[in-house]
Amino acid sequence: MKIALITGVTGQDGTYLAKLLLEKNYKVIGTVRSNRCTNTRNFKYLGIDKDIILEELDLLDMANIIRIIQKYKPNEIYNLAAQSSVGLSYSQPIGTFSFNTTSVNNLLESIRLFSPNTRLYQASSSEMYGRVDSMPIRIDTPMHPISPYGVSKMAAHFMVTTYRESYGIYASNGILFNHESFLRSDNFFIKKIIRDSIAIKNKTLKELRVGNLNVKRDFGYAPKYVEVMWKMMQLEKPDDFIICSGESILLKDIVEYVFEKMNLDKELIIIDDSLFRPNEIKDIYGDNSKARTILDWDYIDSFYDILDILIEKELAQ
Ligand code: NAP
Repeated sequence: MKIALITGVTGQDGTYLAKLLLEKNYKVIGTVRSNRCTNTRNFKYLGIDKDIILEELDLLDMANIIRIIQKYKPNEIYNLAAQSSVGLSYSQPIGTFSFNTTSVNNLLESIRLFSPNTRLYQASSSEMYGRVDSMPIRIDTPMHPISPYGVSKMAAHFMVTTYRESYGIYASNGILFNHESFLRSDNFFIKKIIRDSIAIKNKTLKELRVGNLNVKRDFGYAPKYVEVMWKMMQLEKPDDFIICSGESILLKDIVEYVFEKMNLDKELIIIDDSLFRPNEIKDIYGDNSKARTILDWDYIDSFYDILDILIEKELAQ
């Protein structure tokens, strides 16, 4: 039986990945910041709360990582833990950079020194590319991140490639573009729009307050994106992949679509300057052809169909 260790297992991707690996007969160890305040809501929603072994782990403490690696001897580590909000990274730049880089350095060094056969997956992000001159974004598109989050992910990304090229460890970056699901945290755009729209419909909220809607993003569906994480780790040689839908959608169109589905008056959409970020990528979409060809990944979903699923699931709750 293969053993996988997932950091950030309580998050959206961690929970979907844990479910996938359990279905593939892996022994799954999920690491959490603290046993006392672990939110197991996502595990319960997918019915896997009894199947994951949870371990408390401070990723900033390398001795702790070594202890867990020596205890379980994982074949694969999926590093999904991160301060994952771009918006929050503008108000917590130092904390975001420190955690998102030191945690990865500690994992890489622990593997190099104590478990060189363990494979590492690193959750890289489209935010590393930031302001680009040409699209679609490909692996070799020059990076120009414009948020503390993007900078932190870029630093971690290149530590992964450096360990791979310099020490020969099996470490790969999955460069994922925005992906959503019912398990997304409330502070992310799509989840907030749907939840607030339902609240307006139920008359518990007066209006929808949003920041800049004149930006475009490449959105996909999280359960389909975690499949690629596993596929990448089964390759004979480590490699980096872009995972995206291949097209971008204007945030304004998404909000209006949700409002139309719920028969809400668009006058209730209020643009609030105080919610604007200090800097914003205007448009971003990627090229997923490498993942399609090498990983045989078949992604055809329209994001409007995914929005329908998310609205339905949220209403059912
Ligand atoms: P998420 O739902 O925000 O989950 C983040 C996970 O990281 C949670 O389990 C959280 O634990 C953990 N975490 C945060 N800060 C931590 C800390 N200081 N110590 C230990 N654990 C900590 O994120 P996600 O959407 O699943 O994304 C997974 C990974 O992919 C992240 O690295 C993210 O940056 C990256 N990514 C996501 C997207 C996307 O669109 N979703 C796109 C590109 C890359 P708690 O439950 O304790 O908070």
